[in-house]
Amino acid sequence: MSQQDIPAFEALKIKSNYLRNTIAESLDNPITGAIAPDDQLLIKFHGVYQQQNRDLDEERRRQKLEPLYSYLIRIRVPGGITTAAQWKAIDKLADTYADGELKLTTRQAFQFHAVLKRNLKTTIREINDTLLDTLAACGDVNRNVMSSANPWESAVHAEVAEHARQISAHLSPQTGAYHEIWLDKELVAGGEPEVEPLYGKTYLPRKFKIAMAIPPRNDTDVLSNDLGFVAIVEHGVLKGYNLAVGGGMGYSFGNNATYPRVADIAGYIPAEKVVEAAEAVVVFQRDHGNRQDRKQARLKYTIDNYGLDYFRSELKRTHGLVLEPARPFDFTTQGDDYGWHQDTNGNWHFTLFVEGGKLTDKHGIAAKTAVREIAGFHTGSFILTGNQNLTIAQITPSDKPKIESVFTKYNIPDGNIHSQLRLHSIACAALPYCGLSFAEAERYLPVLVDKIEELLKKYGLSNEPISIRMTGCPNGCGRPFLGEIALVGRAPGKYNLYLGASFSGNRLNKLYKEMLGEEEILAAIDPLLADFSADRQPGEHFGDFVVRKGYVKAVEAGKLFHEN
Ligand code: SF4
Repeated sequence: MSQQDIPAFEALKIKSNYLRNTIAESLDNPITGAIAPDDQLLIKFHGVYQQQNRDLDEERRRQKLEPLYSYLIRIRVPGGITTAAQWKAIDKLADTYADGELKLTTRQAFQFHAVLKRNLKTTIREINDTLLDTLAACGDVNRNVMSSANPWESAVHAEVAEHARQISAHLSPQTGAYHEIWLDKELVAGGEPEVEPLYGKTYLPRKFKIAMAIPPRNDTDVLSNDLGFVAIVEHGVLKGYNLAVGGGMGYSFGNNATYPRVADIAGYIPAEKVVEAAEAVVVFQRDHGNRQDRKQARLKYTIDNYGLDYFRSELKRTHGLVLEPARPFDFTTQGDDYGWHQDTNGNWHFTLFVEGGKLTDKHGIAAKTAVREIAGFHTGSFILTGNQNLTIAQITPSDKPKIESVFTKYNIPDGNIHSQLRLHSIACAALPYCGLSFAEAERYLPVLVDKIEELLKKYGLSNEPISIRMTGCPNGCGRPFLGEIALVGRAPGKYNLYLGASFSGNRLNKLYKEMLGEEEILAAIDPLLADFSADRQPGEHFGDFVVRKGYVKAVEAGKLFHEN
């Protein structure tokens, strides 16, 4: 490829000197709250996005001020597991440098919003002091590795969580840029970088996501990832994993060459090969992913272009990795197991519903304060789940009453007061900070759920678990295309309505109606719920029902997502 043929973003990665570019200079520029355009692209690899508060755009324009630029910081937490000390530090940083709210993401990470440029470096340094970091939380690299929520649930859960940690460590970028820029470490000799043995100068063609799940609970939506490891457990022992490849959620409106996709099960590997398999798939994508067109660059398109047979042959050629035939498994739910659970050692675990992943003190429920107080004495862990919730894990029987009294003190519900619809809701961050958002998500979904709950009540369906997801655009951060009901923002107050995903996360939904406002959404859902109440089969989920009754066609493959 000649110099002129190298696409702009690839050329930028090459010239960036392993993700340095002029980020340090941009941060030091006191004239603006923004950073240079090229640095905005590269800083994502460091776990940071430049944003602006869109609620204030008009006012700032009137005052002839630049937009109120601020930064999202994503903190990588493999498997979502943090200690009490880490929790306390992150909670304090959110109050000191961000907007005081803790966002728990759908990938088991923390997210801060509204951090000003002048505070970025200090915030990241203090995050690193907690032994967490932000490197590779975004960008064209492997991101936070997700794992089924609670490693203390069983020995198998512990093993799978450990594998997630090993994969995360193995696939972390090696560049010294992160330490130089954020932690003021010495430049590597002459500024010349070490090497990136796995990624090379151009890293991956696009972001890369990995998750692990332990059937029957698909609480990481494992099939929505570029690479998923589905644990195969026999007689209580982890034997290995089925490899799921080519999942991904996003697409672009008006570009039907882009589509969400559920991963294919490519084969089985024994447990001891899990890190090697992760590397082999990353190498396949590094070498075969489309670097000319970023909209076609995810592994899902690479797999569709090359086919599974070629993919398997490449794993064998590059790593001597032979995939055995996939082993049977069955998922029954994507959701979290709320409330109190006791493990075989007698310890307790409590999973708290965190609406929209925002842990706040609002509406008379001081959840953020309560968890902070618990972190003051709890000796176990705090685990971010893949559904934006929080599990307080390893609670000793003697500490359980103490934690219950904190819940009472701060009005924390025990998990049973919400409808099953709300407990199965996910929303992305969207407005006011996400620059790609066409409509509200996190701030609006709770309001819409209130209204759908009225319909559910009318039809005697209040206890019916139905998954609902809302995002401000089709990029897919809240995994909308795996919601039995999904609303994806098209314009302020207008959404596309998608229906018919399976409850267990193995079938995509399908566009049902476009550009609906709130009244139209409720009018569209009302007769479906009426019919569901009257005509469902025993045990049938809503997503399966709307497919069986022909409201939408089942989407058998990502490529068919847009077909009528
Ligand atoms: Fe922003 Fe779209 Fe992601 Fe929501 S799905 S956070 S609107 S990019």
